[in-house]
Amino acid sequence: MKFGGTSVANFEAITRAIFIVGGRLDKKPVVVVSALSKVTDLLYRISDAAASRNVAETKQLLSELRLRHVNLASDLLAQSPALRENAVARVTSICDKLEELVNAICAVGELSDRNKAIIISNGELLSSTIICFVMNAKGIRTNFIDARKMMITSDEYLKAEPDLNEIVSRVPAMVEEAFSGMDAVITQGFICSNHKGEQTVLGRGGSDYSASLIGMAIDAERIEIWTDVDGVRSADPRTVENTKYLEKISFEEAAEMAHFGAKVLHPLTIEPAVKKNIPIYVLNSMNPSGKGTAILRNELIEDGVKSVSFKENIRVINIFSMKMINTSGFLRRVFEIFSESKVSVDLISTSEANISVTVDAAEKIDKVVEQLSEFADVIVDDDKSQVSVIGKNIVRLNGMLKKTFAPLKRTNVYMISQGASFVNISFVVDREELVEVVKDLHYHLFEVEEEIEQF
Ligand code: ASP
Ligand code: MG
Repeated sequence: MKFGGTSVANFEAITRAIFIVGGRLDKKPVVVVSALSKVTDLLYRISDAAASRNVAETKQLLSELRLRHVNLASDLLAQSPALRENAVARVTSICDKLEELVNAICAVGELSDRNKAIIISNGELLSSTIICFVMNAKGIRTNFIDARKMMITSDEYLKAEPDLNEIVSRVPAMVEEAFSGMDAVITQGFICSNHKGEQTVLGRGGSDYSASLIGMAIDAERIEIWTDVDGVRSADPRTVENTKYLEKISFEEAAEMAHFGAKVLHPLTIEPAVKKNIPIYVLNSMNPSGKGTAILRNELIEDGVKSVSFKENIRVINIFSMKMINTSGFLRRVFEIFSESKVSVDLISTSEANISVTVDAAEKIDKVVEQLSEFADVIVDDDKSQVSVIGKNIVRLNGMLKKTFAPLKRTNVYMISQGASFVNISFVVDREELVEVVKDLHYHLFEVEEEIEQF
């Protein structure tokens, strides 16, 4: 059971989350928590302030962090003075250690990724520490596992890759041992360590991924992602008005949605679950009796469109070269250049003498463009958006392409790409047209069944 930042944001949220866990004790829940909402952002700000040697600001932010957690622990444990004293002491000691490190960084004004990973790990350490005490205070015998002892990753401190073999070999034994004489086990999302025992993190939003990795390692019956919405929707409700909840979607559909803009799950969450075929449920901790969205294996899911997702700010890189015609190895050369600069490519489409790819606008592409220009003409189109229509077998469904593109009559479409898995049709439009296009598409695909038939 993973609880995100908003599901453990404060007194009420934590009380609710623990109540939800209490209803699952017969299932031996492993609870994975994020930092309290906004705390990871705060820790990033602390590391920035320290790196720029802003002593006053680091002081102020550190005391904000400390106060929030000390107060929360005291409030939640008001009825259990002994536990309260212990919890506050633990919180204080975590904050003291952090402060020491931050002061040292402030003194030299130099922040390595390694130290940054240590700083931003503190949110999860604090939240899990407090929640563990509160669960015990409420009569749920709960053991604490330090995720850094079992979640082993590569050396990229801030966006580490999990070492699946190591995780699978460590997690089950540690979890089983922790359960002895206990009702539940709690650990941290997001934070890990490398083979040398140095701290690493999985990248922003990585707690979902941690939960799914742990679920896989222990062969969990199910993985529950508790968040602050009722499940996965057919589009982002901030853009589209009449979105609907999806009761069930396939692993593949969920993976595509996560990659292509839907913000509900960390994109890599699906992968470990698929390996062991473990269903994932996205549930709302503010509405625990709701059904949520079940993410299940493909065979249990009906064909048809499930979602209109988008990425608002992307670039299209168009690569033209006559040399491409009738030669082999050209594509390899192109993608090696992207790979060397660690620029991640989303969509690709090719013709005889042209390759177009899309990249997130945040990617640094100067070097890529420079290197490509040595043997090709390169044109970069900024201010574009990507729209993806996602659903099982949509590419093969009769008339679906027509349904997708008919509403786009007046829109410039720059690039069209269809996933080989038949789950996704993506295309690129001008950024200024995005909202209109997404609303229009959603309307035609989800809101007016009768009209669709007429296309
Ligand atoms: N606390 C981390 C973040 O805010 C991880 C997570 O919440 O999933 O990115
Ligand atoms: Mg999240």
